[in-house]
Amino acid sequence: MKRRSFIKQTLKGAGMVMLVPTTLPNYKEEKWAGKSVIIIGAGIAGLAAARKLKEKGLTVTVLESQDRVGGRLRSNRSLGVAFDEGASWIHGTQGNPITDLARKSGMTTYETLDESRKSYDLGGAVRDADVYDAAEEKLDAILETLMNEGGAGRSFETVFFQEYPEYAKDRLWRFLLSTYMTFDTGDLDQLSSTLYDEGEEFDGEERISTNGYDMIPKYLAKGLNVRLNQRVTKVDYSGSMVLVSHNGTTSKADYVLVTVPLGVLKENVIEFTPDLPQAKQTAIEKVGMNCVNKFLLTWDKAFWDDVQYISYTPEEKDKFNYFVNVKKFHPKINALMTFAYADYGRETESMTDDAVIDEIMAHLQDIYGEDIPDPTHMLRTKWNSNPNAFGAYSFTAVGTEMRHFDDLAEEVNDKLFFAGEHTEADYFSTAHGAYLSGIREADKILAL
Ligand SMILES: Cc1cc2nc3c(=O)[nH]c(=O)nc-3n(C[C@H](O)[C@H](O)[C@H](O)COP(=O)(O)OP(=O)(O)OC[C@H]3O[C@@H](n4cnc5c(N)ncnc54)[C@H](O)[C@@H]3O)c2cc1C
Repeated sequence: MKRRSFIKQTLKGAGMVMLVPTTLPNYKEEKWAGKSVIIIGAGIAGLAAARKLKEKGLTVTVLESQDRVGGRLRSNRSLGVAFDEGASWIHGTQGNPITDLARKSGMTTYETLDESRKSYDLGGAVRDADVYDAAEEKLDAILETLMNEGGAGRSFETVFFQEYPEYAKDRLWRFLLSTYMTFDTGDLDQLSSTLYDEGEEFDGEERISTNGYDMIPKYLAKGLNVRLNQRVTKVDYSGSMVLVSHNGTTSKADYVLVTVPLGVLKENVIEFTPDLPQAKQTAIEKVGMNCVNKFLLTWDKAFWDDVQYISYTPEEKDKFNYFVNVKKFHPKINALMTFAYADYGRETESMTDDAVIDEIMAHLQDIYGEDIPDPTHMLRTKWNSNPNAFGAYSFTAVGTEMRHFDDLAEEVNDKLFFAGEHTEADYFSTAHGAYLSGIREADKILAL
């Protein structure tokens, strides 16, 4: 299923590929010798910046709270297949810097096709493909103009169901809104009714990682000074050097680049001295942070359709409503990946594994019958309560203005810099947006 399916395709990304760092050269540029940078967070944004700054001769230290690099590019291989807990897809391969990074890092991918799908309603009734396609097309058309009916302070959900009340109880429409809108953005009752369609998209194929998205951060981190298990709690930029407190000690540098997720900024995990400028504080508050959780289940034997996507339209929205057939790209593994979004996604985080499996199995049993086997294992995420993220990715909530993304990116006193997916107005919420934000901030420091 394609995230951002309906989002504008105005920028084809020409020229973006050249932003990908090449092999680190051995020389150092005299100008930067002796200048130091601390980068907070070893996600793709922080690593992209670190690599570029090191290449130019700065002394770069990356402080990372977790025991590994990658942040929301995180792969769990404990079941013999790479389960990407965060990003899975390269959204649009043409001009996308991730395409080139995948090639360089050895990340293998598989083209996923939206057309390879089967949709089921309650009771295992197969949905007519024409009905599905027609609804999808209609939603596409609605999304192109609905913003004209929207207004400040009004959510997408309010405006959509005011204009189209006939779809409020329609399970297919609730499914489409969930998988195309909520998955891609955030809770529909919090999503802006005017800015739900913001952001640019790369052209080309949708490709899912097959051996793990973390290949990319591992590649980017090579040769860098990354200090793991270092949780930053304070940044003092009141003096000539910036002081960074982590694990009971203080480090200092000429420049600091903060790349922690928006959720971490919202939770005030890091104390800034002096306080961050009001515009940045407002942006941290106004831009939304959504919740998407992912679940991978394995079985001894496959019992499902041989298609890429199996969708199901339950009464409850955002609940295990589609399944990625992992067997398509890992033929020896009998696995399905499913999702929970928004409020239901948050609810799953306090559910036991058994309770989650029961709910997922109830959907599969409704489709394929009571006799299907129990899964052998399950892997799951809890992004909302994860203290390294506090959510999955940013979205345009009610009250967000596009300038808020720029405010999130704004440097302070030419010493304190900010990167991360939430700082990239054109490509927020994506791996490529995060990467480009790291390059952008490295360029800003180098232009000082
Ligand atoms: C479930 C899910 C599905 C997604 N699907 C896709 C997809 O298919 N395609 C796509 O393009 N994008 C997808 N994304 C989005 C993409 O993963 C992110 O936009 C991108 O990885 C963010 O990179 P980043 O560097 O901005 O942040 P992060 O990767 O979150 O890096 C920030 C780093 O800061 C660290 N940190 C946090 N707090 C502290 C602290 N106090 N001190 C020190 N370090 C700290 C974190 O541990 C982390 O390593 C998905 C994300 C999620 C969660």
